Amino acid sequence: MSRPTRRFPLPLAKLHGPAPSTPRTLLRPQRLLQQAALDAARRHQPTGLGLDSAAVRARMVERLRAERIDDERVLAAFAAVERHRFVDSALANQAYEDTSLPIGQGQTISKPSVVARMLALAMGSEFARRHGHLGRVLEIGTGCGYQTALLMRLARSVVSIERMRPLAERAKDNLAAQPDAALSSPPHLLHGDGRLGHAPRAPYDAIIAAAGGEHLPAAWIEQLAAGGRLVAPTHDAALGSQRLVVLDKDGAGVHRREFDAVHFVALKSGVE
Ligand code: SAH
Repeated sequence: MSRPTRRFPLPLAKLHGPAPSTPRTLLRPQRLLQQAALDAARRHQPTGLGLDSAAVRARMVERLRAERIDDERVLAAFAAVERHRFVDSALANQAYEDTSLPIGQGQTISKPSVVARMLALAMGSEFARRHGHLGRVLEIGTGCGYQTALLMRLARSVVSIERMRPLAERAKDNLAAQPDAALSSPPHLLHGDGRLGHAPRAPYDAIIAAAGGEHLPAAWIEQLAAGGRLVAPTHDAALGSQRLVVLDKDGAGVHRREFDAVHFVALKSGVE
């Protein structure tokens, strides 16, 4: 019996990562990092940054590591998602700095270190520790869709709600242009008031809010699954500003902890 001859160039499936049938849970963070670099090299697109964007993202990841973000899955997501595609092209050269940026309608995309901190906290839920991913996620405040794109690499499914129609529509375009996500099905993007959550798809294993109010809305706590975790900025009267709040739910009830002082846009009611 003759051996199959090795073909050059290698079949596309070998060069471009696993075929769609490969179980997605087999994708390791290191593999995702390699794939991000391959993707960038393959596309040969001008980035407008004057630098290879995969290399710029890799440097951003190193800075996140230096800030003690040590969840490799979160870091791999940051290495893969092209933040400069979510902001106005005039701001693209600042996309990989640790800074918040305007996204229109008076709203801002949070700085990478804060988004990374929230995602790393979410990855500490009982559910995520057991399963290695975020499961079903509800995101409040889609904005430009950048964090949604990160979540698509960390969760099985993502429901994201934005109250401002122009942003909700832009996020839809931004996310449609995303290459295949590593883990989740396409996100379910909604224009609505996220304070009400989204009961039809509840419960959620993680709820992450990018806007902060006086209190955590009751609907979020109701729609959180046992074993799940809610991460949200909330006003702290004693501090006079916002803090990140983490709320875990188990069979016995909810447990609330407070973390870093943060500065997110206001959680508003109604839609625009
Ligand atoms: N994660 C976003 C950050 C956007 S800023 C990103 O990556 O771009 C926070 C967003 O929350 C804003 O777009 C704001 O319009 C939205 N927001 C504020 N209150 C809301 C509410 N009640 N429901 C849904 N979205 C809300």
